[in-house]
Amino acid sequence: MVNVGVLGATGMVGQRFIQLLDNHPDFEIKALAASSRSAGKRYEDATTWYLNEEMPESVKDIIVCETSPEAMDNDVDIVFSSLPADFAAKVEKDFAKDYVVASNASAHRMKKNIPLVIPEVNPEYLDMIDAQQKENNWDGFIVTNPNCSTIALTLTLKPIVDNFNINSIRVSTMQAVSGAGYNGVPSMAIVDNLVPYIGGEEEKMESETLHLLGSYDGNEVINANFKLSASCHRVPVIDGHTEAVFIELDDDFDIDNVKEKMQNFKGLPQELNLFSAPQNPIVVKEESDRPQPRMDRNAGNGMAVTVGRLRKDQAFDNSFKYVLVGHNTVRGAAGASVLNAELINERIL
Ligand code: NAP
Repeated sequence: MVNVGVLGATGMVGQRFIQLLDNHPDFEIKALAASSRSAGKRYEDATTWYLNEEMPESVKDIIVCETSPEAMDNDVDIVFSSLPADFAAKVEKDFAKDYVVASNASAHRMKKNIPLVIPEVNPEYLDMIDAQQKENNWDGFIVTNPNCSTIALTLTLKPIVDNFNINSIRVSTMQAVSGAGYNGVPSMAIVDNLVPYIGGEEEKMESETLHLLGSYDGNEVINANFKLSASCHRVPVIDGHTEAVFIELDDDFDIDNVKEKMQNFKGLPQELNLFSAPQNPIVVKEESDRPQPRMDRNAGNGMAVTVGRLRKDQAFDNSFKYVLVGHNTVRGAAGASVLNAELINERIL
């Protein structure tokens, strides 16, 4: 068993970590950290639990610690981070001196030698770890996963990038409120409404997607060379991001071929049979009214992305469009970090 800790353990993503790590075959929770507001309290007393599943008995009595390496149990090997980005920027580096840090935060995602990874898409970016450790003189290292809307989009793009030449992509998101954290979107702003702006989200989707679908030449990442434009919106859904995707290819294509490539797509986690890997990372639905967040967010235990309404775009040459749904706090956050850690545990530790 590998002993693990969770940073930001009381938050929306932190709670997902706890749910996903409960009864995990390789990882055992030994430490939970949060802000000074929570430190010193029993986890159950410090947390406003929002998941439908009950809080696991095993964590209720753990005393929440301050978020610093000194406060963390020395037996811990991996820390999962769901800290606010500004705080993560410094503290994740402090942890990386001795621990493996699997982070959800955006602070280090686009930094040189810090892998931004989706295991089905670009596992080879983990090769950066050696350079990261040497450069910083660290025994541990940082591995990051992308933003929640980027992960769902990029998973569906991988089989397309591998089999066709993309000219441009436009994506319009309808993002769940849990993506903003427990105190993120006031109910007065979102009930009976939608908010057509999520700070920084469009920039993250545009830069992270091209980075993930690029290539690593042993020194740096060369971005994918198509154009991508995102428009991001918050909608009154609790969990599950929906995205409408519009793709223009360089050449003519057969839409059934696109569907087949998506349906049959598998990556390294499926090959290695990693515990959290869904059998099919992309589930393609035929019904004309799917995917829907309430019905499809839990596909593959929340780790698969559901695609529907895949059709030729009659208005533009060489173009098609589809709708996707992905679970933002599972595949889009905690589940993504856990899958990264499973791959690291299998390949590196
Ligand atoms: P959240 O619900 O607001 O939780 C934030 C957590 O961080 C809480 O445990 C909080 O502890 C702790 N924290 C806040 N300030 C701190 C400080 N100064 N020192 C130590 N701990 C501190 O937020 P979230 O939605 O879980 O998001 C966490 C991170 O994951 C963010 O970087 C976010 O961008 C990223 N992320 C979120 C999603 C999503 O779908 N929600 C998806 C991808 C990435 P207290 O309870 O003690 O305040």
